[in-house]
This record gives sequence, structure tokens and C-alpha cells, in this order.
Amino acid sequence: MSYTSEVLAKTIEKNPGEQEFHQAIREVLPTLQPVFDANPAYQRSGLLERLVEPERQIIFRVPWVDDKGQVQVNRGFRVQFNSALGPYKGGLRFHPSVKLGTIKFLGFEQIFKNSLTGQPIGGGKGGSDFDPKGKSDREVMAFCQSFMTELFRHIGADTDVPAGDIGVGGREIGFLYGQYKRLTGLYEGVLTGKDLTYGGSLTRTEATGYGLVYLVSNMLEAKGQDLNGKKVVISGSGNVAIYAAEKAAKLGAKVLTMSDSNGWIFDGDGIDLAAVKEIKEVRRGRIREYLNVRPKAEYHEEGLVWSVPCDVALPCATQNELRADGARLLVQNKCVAVGEGANMPTDIEGTEILQQNGVLFAPGKAANAGGVAVSALEMSQNSMRLSWTFDEVDEKLKGIMKNIYTQSSAAAERYGAKDNLVLGANVAGFLKVAAAMTLQGIV
Ligand code: GLU
Repeated sequence: MSYTSEVLAKTIEKNPGEQEFHQAIREVLPTLQPVFDANPAYQRSGLLERLVEPERQIIFRVPWVDDKGQVQVNRGFRVQFNSALGPYKGGLRFHPSVKLGTIKFLGFEQIFKNSLTGQPIGGGKGGSDFDPKGKSDREVMAFCQSFMTELFRHIGADTDVPAGDIGVGGREIGFLYGQYKRLTGLYEGVLTGKDLTYGGSLTRTEATGYGLVYLVSNMLEAKGQDLNGKKVVISGSGNVAIYAAEKAAKLGAKVLTMSDSNGWIFDGDGIDLAAVKEIKEVRRGRIREYLNVRPKAEYHEEGLVWSVPCDVALPCATQNELRADGARLLVQNKCVAVGEGANMPTDIEGTEILQQNGVLFAPGKAANAGGVAVSALEMSQNSMRLSWTFDEVDEKLKGIMKNIYTQSSAAAERYGAKDNLVLGANVAGFLKVAAAMTLQGIV
């Protein structure tokens, strides 16, 4: 049995019930075998055994009182996975489906993604099974304050810097930041994704979606293509989806679909993004309300956005939203490229189907790294106590995404898997972490 298969089997056995974490390591570990074959010292130093075991996992009670005066209890998590490259960095996810295995999968992915950005950030992730949907602002504040009342002792601008993810946006970051400052007395860059009034960075809101489109453009460019005139199918209607749609449209593509957890919309004239922003960013409404503005569009609760013929598909909603059936539809409809805006939106079978049929595939670690990259730029600006312009940050983001593409495709080629960006991103992200871990000794 190879070293990576052995560690994979042992890790799955040691962490029962953590399906999403198992899936994440199943996708990564086998692709690293060629690196271990070339560097036997890594195996001797137990590098992989250390990598799959988080440095620290914090699980805590989050009690709060709802608007009816009833006590609610949620579970909070922060998994500090790897600090070889810098302070732990990664978002907080608030969603009822969140379990330890969810946060571990996200934290594990984050190590590689953060490494690929070239920024000095380690990997971590946190969150809670709290559902912000349908809660009042006061309830969200009460929850965030309680959550931070435990979390604050584990984080800091130079140790661990959380940010947003699903269910955590500007509103939640504000409440969390206020409580951190009140508890510690420190006005420091302990969270990213802050509002511009108190230390946020221009371009952070747009960064994940824009970065995704920059990376997909780099991938298309290498094949002599671009986004101009392409039909794009997007899932999701959160921050990543909205700004991916914005940038794709800016580059001449036509965005045909968006979705939320209830259903999806199709607009043959191209999605009216101002309408989506009003529904989602201002009113916190449902995507079906789009038809009030554009009555000729369609709304579906059944079926998949992937059934809509397209040139480019950007899954930007959540994990495992694009499986074998969706992948087959994309292949049938001659889709040329898929870029993952969400974390692990394509399952292993779906990915294989796309790759085997020659669809260009950019994995989330590479494709959605723009968000955390600009978070790292927000940290830099906070440390320097200055703010860069929108264009300065956007230019840096473009450079970072280009570099991620170049590194990943070069690593794929070097390890005999030309055009396989899944392998390339895993290997390129891993090499830097492995080198740093080796230099820092057995820790
Ligand atoms: N949640 C985002 C991600 O998956 C951003 C994390 C951050 O900015 O720290 O990468």
C-alpha cells in the first residue's frame, strides 16, 4: 500500500462520521503520492500524518436568547488546522448543516488554498450550526456576541484571523468585531471582511467572485479562448455568485442562471444583477422574487441549473452541488470549462466525469482563493494602518490569481498530469507547506 493510501485509510478510521472531511482528504491525498515518491524524507518525518491532524480543535457552547425570550443553544467550532505559513486564516460558516466534519473539510482545503495565494497565512476554519435565515438583526447580534464571548480567547491579529463564509457577511462580521473589541480592548485586524468604516479593504466583497472569473479566464486563455460571448451558468446567489456574475458579464459573457436553497432562475436575456443584488443584499429575500422584476424569466424548484446548455459553469453555492448527473449534462451540452466558486461543490465522481471528457476544470482551492487572498491584503493594510485603492487591490488580486494558475498548471505538468489542475493545485499548495513544516522541525 502506498504511503498516501495508508495515511488516508488510518485517518478515515480515526475520524468516524466526518464524511465531508473524508471526501476532502480522499480527493487530495492520492494526488500527493508523486511528491512523496520524489521526497522520501517527507514520509520519514511523518509529514502527512501531521498534516491531516489539526493543530487544535475548539468546540464550544453558544447560548443566546431569541426574540420570544427563549434560550437557544448552538455549537461553535474553530479548527486551527495548520500554522506553518502564518496565522490561521479562514472563514466562519453559520449554517444548520455545520458539524465538526464540515469545518475540518473546509479547514483542510484552506491550508492548500492559502498556500497557493502566496500570502503568509496558515489554514483554519470555524462556524456554527446556527441558522441566520429568518432571524431578526437582534437575534443575529445576540448569537454573534455569545459566539465571540468564547472565541475571542483563541484568536488574534497575529494568531488566528477569521472571516466570513456561508451565512456570515458584513452584518455578522460587524457584530463579532464589536464584541471582540469590547472583550479585549484591542482595535486590531482580528477579522477580515470588515466594513470600510472600521478597517475593511476595498475589493474584499468582490474578491472571491472576481478572482474566480480571473482564474477561469487564465485557464481559457491558455487554450486560446476567452469569456467574451460565452454562456455562463452560475449556481448560488450569495457573495461569490453575485460578483462572479458581475465580472463575467463585464468580460462579455451572458449569465443565464442563479439559485438559492429553494430554487433557481433562468433568464435568457442575461441575469439582471441589480435586481438580484436588491433581493439578496438589501432585502435578504428569495431568488424567486426575481420574477417580480423580470416576468419573462423562469423560476424552477425542480431540476438542476446544470441542465441549461452553457459554455462555462460556475458552481458558487455549496459542497456537493455538482454530482455525476450534473456533470454528465454539462458534458452532453459541450460545456468547455468549470470553475469552482464554492468549496468542494463538485463531488469526486462529478470531477472525474468532467476531466475524462476534456472539460477544463478549476478546483475551488485555486479558483476561489481570491477571497482569502484579499483577506490577507486586508491584514497587511491593517498592520500598516493604511488603505489601498480599489484598483490597487484589484490589480494585486489579478496578479495573485494569475500566479495561482501558473503555479498549478506548472505543477501538473511537472508531475506528468498536464492540464489536471486538481493535481496541480494540490501539489503546488502542498509543496510550500511541506517545505515550511520541514524547516520548522517536528511540531
Ligand atoms: N470563506 C472564504 C474561503 O473559503 C474566505 C476566508 C477568508 O477570507 O479568510 O476561502
